[in-house]
Amino acid sequence: MCDICDSTGITHPHGLSRRGLFAAGVGGLALAATASASAPAFAQPARSAETPDAAYARLMEGNARYVSGKMNERDFSVGRAARTQGQAPFAAILGCADSRIAPELAFDQGPGELFVVRVAGNFVTPDGLGSLEYGAAVLGTKVIMVLGHTSCGAIGATIGALQKGNTLPGHIAGLVTSMKPGLEAVVKAGGADLEQRAVVANVQANMKRLQTEKPILGDMVSAGKLKVVGAYYDLASGKVVPV
Ligand SMILES: [Zn+2]
Repeated sequence: MCDICDSTGITHPHGLSRRGLFAAGVGGLALAATASASAPAFAQPARSAETPDAAYARLMEGNARYVSGKMNERDFSVGRAARTQGQAPFAAILGCADSRIAPELAFDQGPGELFVVRVAGNFVTPDGLGSLEYGAAVLGTKVIMVLGHTSCGAIGATIGALQKGNTLPGHIAGLVTSMKPGLEAVVKAGGADLEQRAVVANVQANMKRLQTEKPILGDMVSAGKLKVVGAYYDLASGKVVPV
């Protein structure tokens, strides 16, 4: 399947249950996310996957291309006009700020496909949650993936804080404070591969939070309109491994 052709479709099925959103006051945001009245008459981009399962499959297929070095060739100018008219990303990623993990590359996706929130340690912050809610409820993302990674510095720092009482300067300390609750049990248990098990525990803790967060994401998950999944990116292979 050609990503470029996919992104230049002539229809834009929002796929949202807009009535509830408008009642909740999100309608204005939805309008703001689409074309302005003065823009030229290009078609809006079409969404590349319309169900949570299809969206997840599309992510993993893209990662398989990335791992094998067979990424799709892209002309980024194609679809640029359509992208002035709106966006219809099929997936959201809550990923780490780590410079080695770029979601668009790791999943072999072009502009307009992924709605990405990044923070060191890939955990849920209030602003990040609002962004993910906007992505799901207004833009129509079908899957949210919490994406950790091997050798995560934020995970290592949090383990150090829990085990040795390490303190970090400035606002870096706030990252560790936020991540501690999700890692306390695994750090207390100790044992081999502690850091990697902490990466997985952190992903799972934040998945659980997003799956149950009220009023938007939890309701969309219950209604089958959205899936929240978790994985980690293996730095050595580039492979995204589900957890
Ligand atoms: Zn990291």
